[in-house]
Amino acid sequence: MKPFIDLHVHSIVSGHAYSTIDENIKFAKSKNLKYLGMSEHGPSMPAAPHQYYFNNIACIPDEIDGVRIIKGVEANILDTEGNIDIDDDLGYYLNYYIASLHPPCIPYGSKEENTSAVINAMKHKKVKIIGHLDDSRYPVDYEKVVKVAKEEGVIFEINNSSLKPTTFREGAWENVGELLKYCEKYNVKVIFGSDAHICYDICNFSNCEEVVKKYNFNRDLIINYNEEEIIKFFDIK
Ligand SMILES: [Zn+2]
Ligand SMILES: [Zn+2]
Repeated sequence: MKPFIDLHVHSIVSGHAYSTIDENIKFAKSKNLKYLGMSEHGPSMPAAPHQYYFNNIACIPDEIDGVRIIKGVEANILDTEGNIDIDDDLGYYLNYYIASLHPPCIPYGSKEENTSAVINAMKHKKVKIIGHLDDSRYPVDYEKVVKVAKEEGVIFEINNSSLKPTTFREGAWENVGELLKYCEKYNVKVIFGSDAHICYDICNFSNCEEVVKKYNFNRDLIINYNEEEIIKFFDIK
């Protein structure tokens, strides 16, 4: 099976990634990827793009070299109220927000604090995906967040980079198992994301594939392989 989309990709714009947008598109094309999500870090991450980058994003064509570009952001969740660092004005031209917990943008909180941060972030109308909710440094109540995701129509990213031995995140293999268990129980979808910080990692879902196999997860709940569902979910015209 061939994935249609990688929604979680960074370029040099993010300040700690190593390929240009052009290199990313060329590599995506070489992998026959049809939809490429551009998801730079939100402005409160050190060295992330200034808000003007997001204001001006309409200048990037919707299709380049046969690859459909979907414009998004990986927003930072800032506090337990679920505030994020992209407001409606800034996000006007964006199709989707991934909302994630990142140091140093939010302190490592208690399980209660992190759970309320994520649940409240899901209530923003453009937050469609919660990124890499797999890090023991930010423990959460998985059952609670999955139940709210169901009500809000939010899905979860299964992050390929979190599952690498070189990751900064902790405990991802076990935490993803918990997350998948509740996604299956409540029929909540997931999306694989490479979280590529260099073009060669785009569309690399090898660890995602392994983790869904390990936990025997229902593949019908993974949207990367279902083009119709991708078009609907991202509201692609
Ligand atoms: Zn990054
Ligand atoms: Zn992230």
